[in-house]
Amino acid sequence: HKSMRIYLDNAATTAISPTVVSAMLPFLTQHYGNPSSIHADGRAARAAIEQARKTVARHLNASVSEIFFTSCGTESNNMALKCAVRDLAVQRIISTRAEHHCVLHSTETLYREGVEVVYLALDEQGHFAIADLKYALQNSDKKTLVSLMYGNNEIGTRHPIAAVGALCAAHNAYFHTDTVQAVGHELLDAQALGVHFLSGSAHKFNGPKGIGFLYINADTVLSPFIDGGAQERNMRGGTENVAGIVGLAQALEEAYTDLTTKQLYIKNIKNYTLQLLRDNFADIEFNGDLDNSLHHILSVSFAPSMRADMLVFNLDVAGISASGGSACSSGVENASHVMAATRPDSDRRTLRLSFSQHTTIDEIDVTVSKLKQILGVVAT
Ligand code: PLP
Repeated sequence: HKSMRIYLDNAATTAISPTVVSAMLPFLTQHYGNPSSIHADGRAARAAIEQARKTVARHLNASVSEIFFTSCGTESNNMALKCAVRDLAVQRIISTRAEHHCVLHSTETLYREGVEVVYLALDEQGHFAIADLKYALQNSDKKTLVSLMYGNNEIGTRHPIAAVGALCAAHNAYFHTDTVQAVGHELLDAQALGVHFLSGSAHKFNGPKGIGFLYINADTVLSPFIDGGAQERNMRGGTENVAGIVGLAQALEEAYTDLTTKQLYIKNIKNYTLQLLRDNFADIEFNGDLDNSLHHILSVSFAPSMRADMLVFNLDVAGISASGGSACSSGVENASHVMAATRPDSDRRTLRLSFSQHTTIDEIDVTVSKLKQILGVVAT
């Protein structure tokens, strides 16, 4: 049965696809062997994992030996940054203050441990200047890791990742990109992007929660992030989440089937929402770069008011799930670090609407009319 609620929080997480659930089920029921066991039950689980790895590698134009399964996007990003410092003699990180907390807080931890950190300045739309990156890369002899996200999870702004990759190559720097909001939503070619590390998380593309991956370029040799058995080619100990891995691969396969059709559909939903909001709210601002953003994310802001303060709560009461910025880890509404990094002087209240292939025009009509009621806009 379909819930009567309207779900506009697909950047926080997505609905798991029923066919993904079907693909996973046998690995929770009959094929429960440990992939490290050499008997037939173990071998069946191992084969499923290696098949899944092939699928992921194929979609990223990577080789199977470059794909490592992890427990989530957060773990993948922690692994990339922390192992780069520990194993690759990285002494300096270039990043921004609008990265997801799992990158930002990893960078802060590494800073406390003595790594130099350069934060590139961001403009109002969330862009850094390539010239600033070039300057930072030229002006140090320290081994450097650049960590810049593919697209921002709160405001949607996309970054010129291939250009950053080329610049990093020219300056002999390592390059990590957090592609958690882009995997399954856009075609990604790890080789063309020129990255050493690229991360993904299944629950952002209609897969299960608690399973992610990290692409590590073949020339980049790290030591284990989690010590234990020889799983994941010695890089991450722990019995594999077999059903999760199978689900991730199935979800990725489905995401990249008819991708263009889904992209156009979601872009159309976003444009429709944008226009309807413009038509109905005189004082609305759009965050991020509308001309170059992830197509499933729309971030808007309203002037501060008592009603605007309670916006996400009141939408929830009205049966609509949306977000104030990102899904906040504490469950409490707090100021967004992305808004603070891009519009430090703004006191406006942010609402993030994020769409999926299941979002309908009807749902947008209902949402905008509820928004008008909540914000006290008189019907015309
Ligand atoms: N990076 C970005 C850009 C995200 O939006 C998220 C989502 O929460 C993450 C990383 C973390 O992924 P996970 O929830 O799988 O830990």
